[in-house]
Amino acid sequence: METIRIFCPATIANISCGFDVLGVALDAVGDEMVIRKTVAKGIFITKLEGQELPMETSKNVAGVAGLAFLDASDYEGGFEIEIYKKIKAGSGIGSSAASSTGAVWGMNELLGRPFSTLELIRFAMEGERLASGVAHADNVAPALFGGFTLVRSYDPLDIVPIPSPEELFATVIHPQIEVKTSDSRKILKTKITLKDGIKQWGNLGGLVAGLYTKDYDLIGRSLEDHIVEPIRSILIPGFDQVKSSAIASGALGCGISGSGPSIFALSKGESKAKSVGKAMKKVYKNIGIDYEIHVSKINIEGVRRIN
Ligand code: ADP
Repeated sequence: METIRIFCPATIANISCGFDVLGVALDAVGDEMVIRKTVAKGIFITKLEGQELPMETSKNVAGVAGLAFLDASDYEGGFEIEIYKKIKAGSGIGSSAASSTGAVWGMNELLGRPFSTLELIRFAMEGERLASGVAHADNVAPALFGGFTLVRSYDPLDIVPIPSPEELFATVIHPQIEVKTSDSRKILKTKITLKDGIKQWGNLGGLVAGLYTKDYDLIGRSLEDHIVEPIRSILIPGFDQVKSSAIASGALGCGISGSGPSIFALSKGESKAKSVGKAMKKVYKNIGIDYEIHVSKINIEGVRRIN
């Protein structure tokens, strides 16, 4: 195989009580990429459509993740990459992770899968380091594995894929405002109280157990964040209203996607997820902020080949 065309899913990270550790892949929104083997060694980004982003290899996450892959590989050639962006950078649904993941997954397919998924995550994390200064895995892990993933540890890197009940759907609303990732990180506290810690790990355990046992009520009860959401949500206008209307319309839970400004809700069934979306939209219509909305089933496959 010389060329591959792929779908690179958007992802929700920081799922309520799973701040920095729990992410999930979406199906209805993602980028496309075409990756082609070249005789010349190196990574060459030859097309980038849909958004204004750097095409220079060292400034694009796909280039940086691709170089990490090439460095570890004994392949003598290189790769040409075309990126068709659909996920807006900075929206909080893993735009950079989609490109980093797509690059390394596609290259691995073209070379006959010399690397494991965990090794690909390490390469993709180098792209995340370029995007945010931190080589985090909470978006690239679900983008590669699909479904929900838990980053249990970074040292050693230990990623746990978690099953997703079939009827679980995500609604994501992206208010068209800018929240700088640096600002949303700056306002976080570095210490938590034992009381908050106990609530948070109780909920995280409950959420993981609920996902395994398909217990939607338990999932709903566990989708709480007592540590980050109360602080970060002040940067997102309308957050409290969006959350309360999502819950009033039957969502299991609602929280900040990534570092915002997107807000996600999880619901049982597609029609519920759609009515939750309607309720969320209404809030931004009333406030007068433009938005984009996605309703998606959980993508259990992760990045995949198309064509
Ligand atoms: P979020 O996950 O909140 O949507 P990102 O992780 O997408 O935010 O970070 C976007 C940053 O990564 C921007 O500074 C953007 O310029 C940079 N970047 C570099 N290459 C890419 C790419 N191929 N796709 C998306 N963002 C990229």
